[in-house]
Amino acid sequence: MDDDSVPQSRRSRKHAVNEGVRRLLDTPGWNPYRRAASHPDPAAGAREALRQVRVEQAEDAAKACPDCAAARRASGDPSDLCPKHLAEAMGL
Ligand SMILES: [Zn+2]
Repeated sequence: MDDDSVPQSRRSRKHAVNEGVRRLLDTPGWNPYRRAASHPDPAAGAREALRQVRVEQAEDAAKACPDCAAARRASGDPSDLCPKHLAEAMGL
């Protein structure tokens, strides 16, 4: 079996892989890139909902937080948060 000892050239192997990928990408309903283009970010809605919940939770906690009250008095902004709750609202 001399064939096995002859290494296939890198170039032709890479070409074969590219060819297979291209065929896969041409398969309707398979191409993940094409699907991503029609739905830019399927997780964006869920992330936005989570962010909203985080902000609401932080604002709820801020109502009872003396640091937030102090931050609001200091800045004159009624929605201001102390560093801790600001970080929570931002998901940190
Ligand atoms: Zn706070």
